[in-house]
Amino acid sequence: MPHWSTLIREIPDFPKPGIVFKDITPLLADARAFAGAIDAMAAPWRDQVPDAFVGIESRGFIFAAVLAHALGAGFVPARKPGKLPAQVLVHDYALEYGSDRLEMHTDALKPGARVVLVDDVLATGGTLRAALSLARLQGATVIGAAVLVELPALGGRARWDADAPLHVALQG
Ligand code: IMP
Repeated sequence: MPHWSTLIREIPDFPKPGIVFKDITPLLADARAFAGAIDAMAAPWRDQVPDAFVGIESRGFIFAAVLAHALGAGFVPARKPGKLPAQVLVHDYALEYGSDRLEMHTDALKPGARVVLVDDVLATGGTLRAALSLARLQGATVIGAAVLVELPALGGRARWDADAPLHVALQG
């Protein structure tokens, strides 16, 4: 187990009864752990740097922005509804705890842009799939995804229908 994984704590019954929430804030607050987690997420992309990392709101922003800076790529946000100011593409999806919608600016990615999708946790896979659909709608080439923690029991990997690697730094 990587050293940084000990700084991800589990909060029972958050945000709803029955959900055990992986809280990454202690990891982010620790310089060595944060760097270790970024190194683990960055590894597959060092020799195939994408044009942009697409960060999924909100914790995906943290990792995607740091990865973009570390590898010399751009950062593109996939946001919750009503946050982006210009024209958007919309994708609705089911969540582990409810349903939600993800949006991207229609001109955020150029056709053929090579992108990696980024989030902190893969649960049922609906969120990542929404980001995948939005990137594809713009004609981008999704060369993979980078996720800090996969919750295998929730089966999210089965919804990743891209012919590209879904790289997870930790299964928990
Ligand atoms: P999914 O769509 O069910 O795969 O859920 C993944 C999304 O929900 C990601 O954007 C995560 O940030 C968030 N999420 C789901 N479960 C957790 C958790 O236990 N900790 C932190 N975020 C979570």
